[in-house]
Amino acid sequence: MRAIIVGGGIAGPAAAMALQRVGVDAIVLEAAEGTRVAGSWFTVAPNGLAALGAIEALDPVRALGIPTRHNLMRGATGRELGRLGLGGTLDDGTPALSFRRPDLAAALGAEAQRRGIQVRYGARVAYVHDDGDRARVTLRDGTRLEGDLVIGADGIHSVVRTAIDPDAATPRYLGLANFGGISPGAATSSGLPAGAWTFVFGRRAFFGALPTPDGDVVWFVNEPRPPVTREERSATSPADWLAHLGSLAEPDHSGFTELIAAGELELAGDATYDLPRVRRWHRGRLGLIGDALHAPAPSSGQGASMALEDAVVLARCLRDAGTPPSAFAAFEAERRRRVERIVAAGARSSSSKTAGPVARVFQDAVLRWVFRHLVNDRSQAWVYGERVSLDAEAAHVKLNSRG
Ligand SMILES: Cc1cc2nc3c(=O)[nH]c(=O)nc-3n(C[C@H](O)[C@H](O)[C@H](O)COP(=O)(O)OP(=O)(O)OC[C@H]3O[C@@H](n4cnc5c(N)ncnc54)[C@H](O)[C@@H]3O)c2cc1C
Repeated sequence: MRAIIVGGGIAGPAAAMALQRVGVDAIVLEAAEGTRVAGSWFTVAPNGLAALGAIEALDPVRALGIPTRHNLMRGATGRELGRLGLGGTLDDGTPALSFRRPDLAAALGAEAQRRGIQVRYGARVAYVHDDGDRARVTLRDGTRLEGDLVIGADGIHSVVRTAIDPDAATPRYLGLANFGGISPGAATSSGLPAGAWTFVFGRRAFFGALPTPDGDVVWFVNEPRPPVTREERSATSPADWLAHLGSLAEPDHSGFTELIAAGELELAGDATYDLPRVRRWHRGRLGLIGDALHAPAPSSGQGASMALEDAVVLARCLRDAGTPPSAFAAFEAERRRRVERIVAAGARSSSSKTAGPVARVFQDAVLRWVFRHLVNDRSQAWVYGERVSLDAEAAHVKLNSRG
């Protein structure tokens, strides 16, 4: 069997490696030229790391990740609102790891290539078609490829999703522009705790920062606002953005104004979207995984982890179900409830970042209550405790008691 995987981000190379382990050949087609792309940081939780482990791809990327044990939530006054664990550790003691997105994507692509899998960069897919007997793909440069199935791992603006269902749901703008940066050498002066993301529900924006083992601090800012327009982007220099982001933190007691002033911009005004419910997950020989299927709000912290889980589960379904259509159906039956629950929870937590000035007055008290009673380590155990495997018997929740 031969699979064509559209998208060489996180889900694509992982799926190719998972398929190789069940005897399915795959080629990965990635639109980006080379591996130098934009992107800031995200966390892969133990459930996502377990998926990497299931295809023996954790060790090749482990050193790129920053061990991250919990998220510390603060209000605009600096008061602690709550502390949320990130799922404890894997059996070998590995906690959640925070990665720079382009580094993890490049490392997974390189590992797939090292295993003999073809990963083509600069290969933008224009059309996807299932003619019953074969699945066909046409690149923008006119190149045509065919296989037994096409897997759309092509992210939030997926072309494969539209090929499956021309009326498919479109991504929903979450009302936040995302900026990311790094402040070299700022770890000590920032006073931020190591091994944790510190999140600040500020008066004008939502902020996050994580010290790196090298003594730097990586940070992001989510600003409530309409999407950044093309004209605005071309008229705004990195220094202008940094000045603007610093000013957003001025009303708070968080230290972010100084941190951002010492920083370099890595991601400028990325529009944040989610994808709550995709009606058709597959059609014939065409199917979807990762953000193409269930992009969560970035605040869920589960986008990459769910994408990695998908890669492993789909490979197991293909091995066990035999034909692509039955494998896609088995995959949907196993995955839909979990991923839609996570996307819904992500949308709820994202809305707390866009609270208006009146809501902000009450927000600290509400959030303290929420982190004590509603969103806590126990209530999140079903998210982090998932352990997917190519071995069907081991595929369901196994909670790790260490944390
Ligand atoms: C450039 C970029 C930067 C990102 N930065 C962040 C970040 O800073 N923080 C964060 O939490 N999440 C970020 N994400 C999203 C994050 O990677 C995903 O939420 C998650 O990891 C799921 O991965 P995925 O592989 O399903 O999707 P993605 O990581 O989005 O990967 C999809 C891939 O498909 C490729 N692609 C799209 N269309 C085509 C096409 N027609 N033909 C061929 N290839 C195509 C894209 O170039 C991309 O590499 C970013 C995504 C991208 C694409």
